[in-house]
Amino acid sequence: MSEHDELEALRDQVETRAYIDQALTKLFAPEDEALAAARKAPQQHDMPSIEISPLQGKLLQVLALACGAKRILEIGALAGYSGLWLARALPPDGRLISLEISEQHAAVARASWERAGLGDRAEVRVGPAEELLPALQSEAPFDLVFIDADKPSYPTYLDWALKLTRPGSIIVADNCIRRGVPLREDSESSTDPATAALYTYDQRVAADPRLLSVALPLSKDDGMDGFAISVVRAVAPAEG
Ligand code: SAM
Repeated sequence: MSEHDELEALRDQVETRAYIDQALTKLFAPEDEALAAARKAPQQHDMPSIEISPLQGKLLQVLALACGAKRILEIGALAGYSGLWLARALPPDGRLISLEISEQHAAVARASWERAGLGDRAEVRVGPAEELLPALQSEAPFDLVFIDADKPSYPTYLDWALKLTRPGSIIVADNCIRRGVPLREDSESSTDPATAALYTYDQRVAADPRLLSVALPLSKDDGMDGFAISVVRAVAPAEG
C-alpha cells in the first residue's frame, strides 16, 4: 500500500470512529437541558472539562439499574455531570453521595443536581476523599462505587470500595486505560505516581478473586481511555 493509500485508510478509520461515537451518543445517550448544562458548567466556572462522556454516563446508569442501586458512592464530583447520570438511575428513596475536595466544584455540582430536581437524593461532601471515606462505614453497603478523582489514590480507593460494598455491588473506575500506558509492564515502576497507581489498580482488579472485572475503552478522546468495571463476587471462583 502506498503512503498516500495508508493515510487515506487511517483517515477513514478516524472518521468512522468519530461517526460511530456520534451516532451511538445520539441514539443511546442524548442529553436533555440539565445534562447539557452540567457538561458545560466547568467551562463557565473556570474549571477543567474532564467529565466522562455521555456514553460513559449512560453505561453508569445501565450498571446502576443492573445492580438495583439504592446507594451510590462517587469519588470526584467536578460539576456533577457523572453524578447526574447516576442519580437519575436511583429510585426516589435512593441516595448518591459524592466526595469532592474542591469547595468550588462541590457548589457547581450541587447546582447541577438542584437544576435537575435531584437535590433530594444527591449530596456532595467536601474534603479529601481519603479523610471522608472512613465515616461512610456506617452508611454502607453501597451498591455502586464510581472512582474518578486523583489517580495516585486509586489503590486506596479500591481498598475502601471493597470495604464499603456487598456481593453484587459494582465498582467502576475511570481512566484505567489512558492510551495503554498503565497496561505496560514497566509502568509498575513508573516515576509518575498516577501511572504506577493505575497500573496497580488494573492489575489488582484483574486478579482479585473477590472481583469479576473487565476494562472497556470508551471515552470522549477517541476511545483511548475508559472504565475498569468490577462486580463484587458472592463466592470465590472455582479453581482451574
Ligand atoms: N466524575 C466527574 C464527572 O465525570 O462529571 C469528573 C471528576 S474529575 C475527573 C475529578 C474530580 O476529583 C475533580 O473535581 C477534583 O477536584 C476531585 N478530586 C481530586 N482529588 C480529590 C481528592 N483527594 N478527594 C476528593 N476529590 C478529589
